[in-house]
Parts: sequence; structure tokens; C-alpha cells
Amino acid sequence: MIRFACVRGAALVGAAALVPALTSAQPSRPDADPRIEALVASVSQERLQATVIKLASFGTRSTLSDTVSTTRGIGAARRWIFDEFRRMSPKLQVAFDRHLLAPQGRITREVELVNVVAILPGKTDRRVYITGHYDTVNPRGNAPNNPGAGAGARTGGDAQMRPEMDHNADAPGANDDGSGTALTMELARVFATSGLTFDATLVFVTWAGEEQGLIGAMAHAQLLAAAKIPVTANFNNDIVGSSLGGNGIIDAESVRIYSLGPEDSPHRSLARYIARVAGTYVPSHTIRLMAREDRFGRGSDHSSFTAFDFPAVVFREANENYQRQHNAEDKPEGMDFRYLAQNARVNAAAAGSIALAPAAPGISTPGGTAPMISRGSGYDAALQWTRSAGAVGYRVYWRNAWSNDWERSRLVGDTTRLLLPNVSIDDYVFGVAAVNAEGHESLINAYVSPNRRMSPVVRRP
Ligand SMILES: [Zn+2]
Repeated sequence: MIRFACVRGAALVGAAALVPALTSAQPSRPDADPRIEALVASVSQERLQATVIKLASFGTRSTLSDTVSTTRGIGAARRWIFDEFRRMSPKLQVAFDRHLLAPQGRITREVELVNVVAILPGKTDRRVYITGHYDTVNPRGNAPNNPGAGAGARTGGDAQMRPEMDHNADAPGANDDGSGTALTMELARVFATSGLTFDATLVFVTWAGEEQGLIGAMAHAQLLAAAKIPVTANFNNDIVGSSLGGNGIIDAESVRIYSLGPEDSPHRSLARYIARVAGTYVPSHTIRLMAREDRFGRGSDHSSFTAFDFPAVVFREANENYQRQHNAEDKPEGMDFRYLAQNARVNAAAAGSIALAPAAPGISTPGGTAPMISRGSGYDAALQWTRSAGAVGYRVYWRNAWSNDWERSRLVGDTTRLLLPNVSIDDYVFGVAAVNAEGHESLINAYVSPNRRMSPVVRRP
């Protein structure tokens, strides 16, 4: 993919002296911000491992499992997660996000669904989410204490809907999704103890109800949308802790990031952003961008965010082992904690960068009456955008209309327009990001050409 030259450094020079400085010989700051390097360096493989082992020790964390025991089931697990968040830092606002559910689909009885939320307030209310689901499932009930053991395999259909389903059967969920839960908790610690104040408010959530249909995340996202709370990004992590695939292939050097299209959706913009930042801060790790919502026929909680147009992606390990998912074999022994730590570092770098940056500039007018992109004198690209609070400059990107990655960019100062003579808006895609004084850059908002609306042809009777 295209690599971008010196985003931070160029931004600093340009912000100070506008465009001409970009061509001068004066030294620029390095690409990497030491503060983000420190976040990345703070990720602890040992803590990730200890968290996964503890989560698996609850036996099951099924959303419909026991909530009274202090040692087994989802109730004990969530109280432990809550207490861990509380122990990390007084800066974290920790809460149970409770939702009383009626029976629906795989939720076969009334249940109180509880997400665990830790909020690190920033300078603004817009939110950057880092998430994983702490609930687990074992639909075949392979545990010896399950009277319906093996029934799912024999009779087909949805085992979770059957009355004999044992929700207390062993479902340790070390990787699915103890890995994403541990990553979320570790980043809460890393960010809350960093001493940094972020522009965005960081929200660390471990979801419940994922295995019954992404219910905990959806219940939360519905309320976010209703309250019109701005969401800059959701980094969702689900099955990110094993480097050994069921096919015997080992890959500890790459991670897959899935994002819903089309190609200039906010979700793809977030995916490209993560790939770019990871190249700077975790260069030994390869980001494999996947131009689809998720793996074939499978899903996770990021879709509850994309449902409301909140930019969201899901991280997936390079090569899964399906024999260790949704059963009693999903144990810590099947994991690679060095690999999980690498994936946590990618999340830390990208979430840190985006949370330090301003909000992305606006590129649409209310009602869409005045286009923010036009042909200028007839053959130019004339771009406009609205100011982002905290920005001292803007970087305009463009690429061939058939290309997937940005190819060219230009930094401009504190203005809200740019004219590129003789660059055809018909042949290129354009986008714009906001840059602050420290060179941190927002997501790129792309100017998308709307699909043509066709009218049916009226025939004479
Ligand atoms: Zn999962």
C-alpha cells in the first residue's frame, strides 16, 4: 500500500509557516510522537495473560449463566472486571451499563444484560471506543454437567434456542473473546495512567450478549444515537489472541481488520488510518485490511456501531482455529500472549493518535444544498470544508478514482478551501483531514459522489 511521508513532521512545518515551508530545508520533527510511543511501550504482555487466565477461570461467562456465585458465571466475571477498572486509576469513571431484556431470539428468558464501561474523560465529549465482548457461549454443552451434551450437533438448528441448553456448561472463552476483553482492559490502564489529556473521551467497554446477536453493543449504540453523542471511532477486538490456525499455519506477524464499505465509508477511513499509524509505531506488524464487514457469515459488535454510521472496525487474528471456538476447549493454553500484545499495541497507537487529534472537518452542508466540491473554473478541483476545533491546518488527500489508497496529499494552513487547478473531480477521489499544532491528524472525510437516482420510464397506456 501507499505509505505517507512524514505526516507529523510535515504537518508541524506546514502549520507554522503554511505551505511554502514544506519545500524548505528546515528540519521537521520525526514522524513518531514520543507520547504515543510511550503508550505503545506501556502495553504489558504479562497483564494481558493474567487477565485472560482470570477470565477463563470463571468457567463460563454466558449471558444467561449464573449471576450469584462469586467464582463462576457472568455475574462474578463482570464484578471482577468492574473492580479491575476501578483499581487502575481514579481517572476512570466505571459503571455497569444495565439493560433489562425481554425474551427475544437466543435470549430465551428475561435477563438483565450488563456491559461494563470505563470512561476516561477528554477535552471534548466525542468518543473513541475500544471494545471486546466478555460473554462466552458453548452451544453444544460439551461439559459433563450438561444434560443436553452433544444435542446441538445431532439435531441441528439453533442450539441456543432449545430448552435443554445448559448456559452453565463450561465456556471459558479465553480467545473468544477473553482476548478482546483483556486488550480493552489493558488499554484502559495504559491510557488512564499515561498522564496525557486526550482531545476525545476514551470509552472502554466489555460487552455482554454478543453471542446472542450483538445485543449488549446494540442496546448501548441505540442510546448513543438517541442522545446524539458524537462517536469518532470504535476499535472492536474479537478473537485476537492466537497465532496458530486450525490448519497448522502460524502467523504472529499480521492482523486482519474488517470494515464495512463502500470504499469511502467512515469505516474504511478508520481502517486506512489504523494501517497508516501502525506502520509508524508497530512496524513489525502487518495490517491486512479486509474490504468487507467481517468474516464470511460471521459478525461482532462493531456492526452495532456501523448501524448508526459511527466509524467502526473489527480486529481479527490472522488465522483462526475453529476447533477452539464456542466450546470448552477455548482455553488460555491455545493462545499466544506475545501476539495478543502486538495487537494491543496497534490499537494503542491508532486510538492514541485519533484521540489526540481534532475531529474530522465537515464536508457536507445541512440539507446538502451547497456542494462542498465543485469544478471551479470548469476543470479544477475546488474543495471546501468546515473548521474543526483545535485544528491549525488541514491535509487534503486525493487518489485515482479506481484506487483504494490515498496517493497524494497537500497540507494547507488554517483555511477552509483549496483549489487544485486542472485536477479533475471526475477522475480523482478527494478527502480532507484536520491537523493540530502537534501534527496529530483526524480521520479523512471523503467527498463522495452520490448515486444517480433513476426515474421509471412512463409508457403510453
Ligand atoms: Zn466473539
